[in-house]
Parts: sequence; structure tokens; C-alpha cells
Amino acid sequence: MDLEEVKMTFIQPCTADSARIRFKAKFSADISQILPYINSTVKDAIYNKKIQSLTIRKEFRIITIYGNDLAVSKAVNESEAYEIMDLVKDLVNNTYERKDEIEPLYEMREKPSALEIYKYLPKLNCKKCGEVTCLAFASKLLSGMQSIKKCSPIYEDNNQKNLEEVKNMMQIMGYE
Ligand code: SF4
Repeated sequence: MDLEEVKMTFIQPCTADSARIRFKAKFSADISQILPYINSTVKDAIYNKKIQSLTIRKEFRIITIYGNDLAVSKAVNESEAYEIMDLVKDLVNNTYERKDEIEPLYEMREKPSALEIYKYLPKLNCKKCGEVTCLAFASKLLSGMQSIKKCSPIYEDNNQKNLEEVKNMMQIMGYE
């Protein structure tokens, strides 16, 4: 397998910090099989076997690699976005070359708790999301059974920073 091309498909300012950008890019090949090998070699990576995603944090940047694409938050600018795309491409190709020497690792090393997610929710217990409490909603977010889009109060203007925090935690676990 050789990942020949990583092509940007989407770019926009981060919701709560317009000085940073989020972007997405598409791979020219399916690289799912290499993710557990990257998980083994990048010590602070977070791998989600269920949805085949791997997240790497580079200082404040959040880089999530899926089988067919890439999602990045908090990049500094467009030229850095291209550097990250090259970095991911090299990481995938170099790991593939060394695949026979690496023991794949399938575990998720780290996961936020429901309480950590709850901290950023509006705490209204208004049930608009379909859950009885915000804490129940946080637990469902954690297991991938709910989407932050179902919590309409967090989309109000004064909650933009909290929304960004929850979205970042979701992205770290590989959820969109
Ligand atoms: S919609 Fe949001 S604020 Fe309302 S209960 Fe659900 S998580 Fe809490």
C-alpha cells in the first residue's frame, strides 16, 4: 500500500477561535489497516477500533486519521494545513514500510469521562436531546450513541467555547 495523495476537501475557521482553522482531506487509498500500527508507534495516539479512527495531538492541534480521510482542528493557517497533510502521508507510508517489525496495538489508551464532557454541557436538563439529564446525554456521547447536534442549547451564542470543547473531545475519540 502506498498513500499517494492527500487532497483537501474542506477548510473553515474554528467555531470559537477564528484565528485557527479546521480542515478535512481525502486519501487516495484506504489506510484503515495501518492505524493499529501507528497506534503502536505513536505513544500518545488514541485509537478507536470500533470506528477505525486514530487521533494524534500536536500541541493544541487535533489530528484525526480515518480509513479514507483526515480531520484536523486548531491548525494555525492554510500552509500549516498542507504541512500536516504531508506529515500524515509520510507517517502512513513510513509505518507501512516498517509494518513487519511492528506489533499492532488495538486498544484505546485514553478516553474522556462522562463527567469531563458534562462539564461543558449547558446543564439545563431540558430533555431537548431526548435524554432525561445532561449527564445521561454525556454518557451517550461518550459511547457514540448520541450526537452533540441534538443539544440545541449548546449552539446558542454564549456557549460557543463549550461547544468547541465538546466537539474537540468527540473528535479525539474519532466521532464526527
Ligand atoms: S438538550 Fe443539552 S441542555 Fe438539554 S438536557 Fe440535553 S444535553 Fe442537557
